Amino acid sequence: MENYIVSARKYRPTAFGTVVGQQALTTTLKNAITTGKLAHAYLFCGPRGVGKTTCARIFAKTINCLSPNGEREACGVCESCKAFDEGRSYNIHELDAASNNGVNEIRDLIDQVLVPPQIGKYKVFIIDEVHMLTPAAFNAFLKTLEEPPAHAIFILATTEKHKILPTIISRCQVYDFNRMEVSDITNHLKNVAALEGITYEEEALGVIAQKADGGMRDALSIFDQIVSFTEGNITYDQVIKSLNVLDFESFYKVADLIIDKKIPDLMLELNSILQKGFSAQHFMGGLASHFRELLVASDERTLSLIEASENVRQRYAQQVKRCKPAFLYRALKICNDCDMNYRTSRNKRLLVEIALIELAQATEEGSGVRPKTALRPIFKATTQKVAAAQPKAPQTPAPKIQTTTIVTPPKAVSTTVSTTTTPTFKGKPQTFSLRGGLMPQQTKVSQEATPTTPTTPVITEVRPFSEHELQHEWRYFLNKLPREYIATTGRLKNIEPKLVKEWTGHIVFESQPVADCFLAIKSQMLDFMRTRLRNAEVDFTFEVEALSEPTKIKTPREHWKELLQHNRMIQRLQKALGLEYY
Ligand SMILES: [Zn+2]
Repeated sequence: MENYIVSARKYRPTAFGTVVGQQALTTTLKNAITTGKLAHAYLFCGPRGVGKTTCARIFAKTINCLSPNGEREACGVCESCKAFDEGRSYNIHELDAASNNGVNEIRDLIDQVLVPPQIGKYKVFIIDEVHMLTPAAFNAFLKTLEEPPAHAIFILATTEKHKILPTIISRCQVYDFNRMEVSDITNHLKNVAALEGITYEEEALGVIAQKADGGMRDALSIFDQIVSFTEGNITYDQVIKSLNVLDFESFYKVADLIIDKKIPDLMLELNSILQKGFSAQHFMGGLASHFRELLVASDERTLSLIEASENVRQRYAQQVKRCKPAFLYRALKICNDCDMNYRTSRNKRLLVEIALIELAQATEEGSGVRPKTALRPIFKATTQKVAAAQPKAPQTPAPKIQTTTIVTPPKAVSTTVSTTTTPTFKGKPQTFSLRGGLMPQQTKVSQEATPTTPTTPVITEVRPFSEHELQHEWRYFLNKLPREYIATTGRLKNIEPKLVKEWTGHIVFESQPVADCFLAIKSQMLDFMRTRLRNAEVDFTFEVEALSEPTKIKTPREHWKELLQHNRMIQRLQKALGLEYY
């Protein structure tokens, strides 16, 4: 049996030029070498398997090379290079701090630092996982790190930069290694496959690269596994099967079912995915990413942002032709909501199923098919109490619908509203800035809004929007209200304004107190809506739906009084006999 070497070792880069995906960093290191401006300590930070140790070794080899070539790389033929390549160089010392993290190991290292190199100019000390050193070891090391002999160079590597003491960081030149791009890894895998004489499907390598999550070492060890599993012929199906990943195809299929509103098939598909052992949350996360990619694919210019093979990109571009942008926004929102509620949900599967159904219904944008949130009955109960507390003249039956339409002219907002009732809200709105709270998320909007005074945004355009967008902003605004408005939010959240004519939302309130709540925040709401929807003519009209007289249980005394009122014979009888109800 021939000597088998894993790919991660066999194809480990031996020169800066062959390091994958860290171009900027290797160039800086090479420049430092040519100009002779070497620091005595470096700190390499970054996730695992992205080339920290590899770069440290190449660096050590290159600075010790006796005759570096024109490309500023190690020659590979001089005595020093040979010693490096054969692993017998005394100029490189590696300490794995994960297992050698005590004071004694560091003292041994310090002893070695003092001995000058036999061949070459520098001794390089690589301390891997340096954050694992004990505090005592760190302290023992600090002095040497600060004033090392001229021939010593330290390269500290860590995956967790935040655990490194500031005193260490300030003594090092820091290099941050990036996670590798999927395309970089895929290309490298292609090269390795070609060198090894392995046939492959490009999508299959893409899946491996994605699974490795930016780490080349992981990618190569997955690659090795797959090679032995598939006997040198890597196909997409086999990769999916052996890695047990939820792949593009599954999400593509689910998205198709959603677009076609095939809810029973969706349920079956979800079931089969769960049976394969995937968690429902993982699935929803993947689906959200799928919709994100679709959104990106909807524009030719952003298509290249999708980290996938050309083939897959084109399939995204194809599928997005079947979706409206509004649907994609809504879909992302639904996926996100589901994700947020997942942890607290008792029936997680049901939650995901509901989300899928909502997604399928969201394709019919604005048709009102989407089920309303189920808080309405509770809401009704409280308003009845309020209505009952207000005395009403019994003789005059209230008209079924009492319409108060207030049309506020665009832009002159505050005048009509500030004169209205509810003293509790008066003056309060000035104490918070909705726009301020929204700035981080909506940079585009805030750029438009900031140059003016904080209360009146200058929106002059009249951008068309859908009823759905209006309702979305309505809820968004209410959710953003400060805590003291919690009652307002609660009352208004389940009401949905309807877009009756161009840019005017119409709201039906169930009682006057609810309408008053709305009036108290109307001007802020309008400002907000106009900015967010980029439409200066947004306005609201509303009406108050009178409740039918609540049926009240009468006491015997009330019965008596009613009888007296309506029946003259009883009135006479009462007078004649001097009757009184006790
Ligand atoms: Zn050399």
